[in-house]
Amino acid sequence: MNIYADLHLHSCLSPCGDADMTPNNLVRMAKLLGYDMIALTDHNTCRNCAAAMEVGAREGITVVPGMELCTAEEIHCVCLLPDLQAAEAFSAHVHTTLPPVPNRPEIFGEQLVLDAFDGVLDTEPLLLTTASAIGIDALPKLVRSFGGACFPAHLDRASYSLLSVLGELYPELDFQTAEFTHKAFLPQYLERHPLLRGMRLVRNSDAHYLENMVEPAEPLPLTACTAAALIDFINGN
Ligand SMILES: [Zn+2]
Ligand SMILES: [Zn+2]
Repeated sequence: MNIYADLHLHSCLSPCGDADMTPNNLVRMAKLLGYDMIALTDHNTCRNCAAAMEVGAREGITVVPGMELCTAEEIHCVCLLPDLQAAEAFSAHVHTTLPPVPNRPEIFGEQLVLDAFDGVLDTEPLLLTTASAIGIDALPKLVRSFGGACFPAHLDRASYSLLSVLGELYPELDFQTAEFTHKAFLPQYLERHPLLRGMRLVRNSDAHYLENMVEPAEPLPLTACTAAALIDFINGN
């Protein structure tokens, strides 16, 4: 079946995410735009996934718990988890690999953990935009050990992308899917990086503001509108 999905969205828990990106606002905006499925992928944390999933259940849209992890090499990768329990376990593990740098709200803004009615439950004290100690070579296996799947984010960006940091895709890295922004001209990348021709390519908004969320473009051919079907697809099955 054709599933319209945006697999890369930030909430107000990401220091660069707008305060208006609450679980209710972003899920309802996705529904208005016509999405069947979204993934919430805050920087280095899954702590707002519980609220977003609860709102998704209420609004009738599938919310997959996720995270945009920053590897030790400063490469952003979108990680998707099968359920809340796996996401929370993965998030707790990633937390132990982050440097002990506190957030400075006066510079980065508050990192808000919200409930399913957008009430404030907590503020995350650790700065979430730093690099974890997890290497890009270890990440796919690690995410799969939690039942999930991952892909390198925004390959066409000049910073924090696999191509900007490493210059090339390597088969040893074991990614079956890669992400581009909506602006990327894909033929140019397929020409320059032949490995991409055997991979699944997805485009997502990476929205940090409600107004950056965009209408769905290409649907994903999934067997069901579920996290499990999405993870199978991203893992190349
Ligand atoms: Zn990123
Ligand atoms: Zn992002």
